[in-house]
Amino acid sequence: MMVLTCKATEVPRPYSVLRLPTRGTVAVLLLSDLVGFRVHFERSSLICPREDCPACRTGRSTKYVGYCVVWSGEQRQLLRLTEAAARSVESRQLAFPGAVWSIEKRGSRSTPVVTELPPRDLKPGQLVDTREVLARVAMLHSLGVIDSAVPLADLQEQIAVSARMLLSRLLVH
Ligand SMILES: [Zn+2]
Repeated sequence: MMVLTCKATEVPRPYSVLRLPTRGTVAVLLLSDLVGFRVHFERSSLICPREDCPACRTGRSTKYVGYCVVWSGEQRQLLRLTEAAARSVESRQLAFPGAVWSIEKRGSRSTPVVTELPPRDLKPGQLVDTREVLARVAMLHSLGVIDSAVPLADLQEQIAVSARMLLSRLLVH
């Protein structure tokens, strides 16, 4: 088991997506809540704005993905969970800041199996706000830099507007 320690203060930098091994186990400390998104796959995965979506209008399907910020022993990273894995941790109420997970992959196509380990108390400065998760995921999905220092509803609206614009632009060609 790797030691999960996290410095309280870090230099801000883009978060990469945690790569799970094809086979094997990784331990992570959750620094945020799990946030769910629906995404379309148009060359890359793009956030679905839900309302007034140009891709949904043309019958394109979406997939549900869950994201949370985790500490994997070296740095803050975004953990992306597929629908099956996200629903599994949601139904077991395993996703909360301070939760520690052991994630096991049993093959490239298998759903990761999440096991709960004893949770930790997060130190001040470790907790990552939901708005920060939204902004980071938006950035990851080509929506550019979104200001996370605004109320949650405004941030969600800003992401929906940007996602709608990006999808309209891509679907024209
Ligand atoms: Zn859509």
